[in-house]
Amino acid sequence: MNIEQQVRKTIAKYHLLDKKDKIAVALSGGKDSTSILYILYKLGYNIEGLMIDLHLGEWSKIHRKNMEKFCSELGIKLTVVDLKKELGMGICFIKSVLKEQKNLTGCMVCGVIKKWILNKWAKKLKVDKIATGHNLDDESQTVLMNFLKGNIYLGVNSSPATGIPNKSFVQRVKPLFFIPEKGIKAYSKKMRFPILYDKCPCAIGTYRVETRKWMENFSDREKLKIVENFQKLIPKLREKHKTIIQECKICREPSSTDVCNACKIFSCVKNAHQ
Ligand code: AMP
Ligand code: ZN
Repeated sequence: MNIEQQVRKTIAKYHLLDKKDKIAVALSGGKDSTSILYILYKLGYNIEGLMIDLHLGEWSKIHRKNMEKFCSELGIKLTVVDLKKELGMGICFIKSVLKEQKNLTGCMVCGVIKKWILNKWAKKLKVDKIATGHNLDDESQTVLMNFLKGNIYLGVNSSPATGIPNKSFVQRVKPLFFIPEKGIKAYSKKMRFPILYDKCPCAIGTYRVETRKWMENFSDREKLKIVENFQKLIPKLREKHKTIIQECKICREPSSTDVCNACKIFSCVKNAHQ
């Protein structure tokens, strides 16, 4: 089965998308999100691109230019959200303050903020779903990272379709959930997508980077087993660990606690600079 057929199979099996859905593809400018944008376009879904410009120097500038060109050539609408305008501060500043304060690792902070912006903008754009480029390698790393942190419940919502949509939460779907990174890289090279293959310049020495490194010799079959076995566990975990999604009392975005993680980060940064 080639990647396009695998994506089709995952979408059908997990009822991820409907041809009537308006879908925002979260575009980082990397191989995974560019591939899923192209595959959904080819399969005839109603898609548009949504990209956050993180302002990480040349790396962000190149990614942004690449996606602007790629989407315009395919006739796909692209919205670029400027992180500095959105938050009034850059990601590097936030990370440096938090590192002093809480020792939060960079990738976690970035992940929380990206999710928060994507959900907010998906509502503004009135889309039904957000599709991301998370692949089998990302997902197997997450399972083991949560396990080693001693908290497998952190993965209770990780599945090809995340959460139950409601008026404050736009469902996120991951059509590449079971597809190994290697295969996606080969596909995007074969298709000659105009993209940069460099990893994020900020992802140095983080827990995710360390995990990726020590999992290098795991086979795709082993990664698939990790993810599939964890998926089998999820219904049992959900019975024991019911998360109730409410609205954050500060920003009104979805949260499992009364203040969401993004607002906790923002208030931590503000307090440090008062
Ligand atoms: P990462 O967190 O970098 O592993 O990215 C996982 C997925 O999140 C990507 O495949 C994209 O779908 C999405 N994503 C990452 N960075 C961005 C960004 N700057 N703007 C929009 N979506 C992003
Ligand atoms: Zn909030």
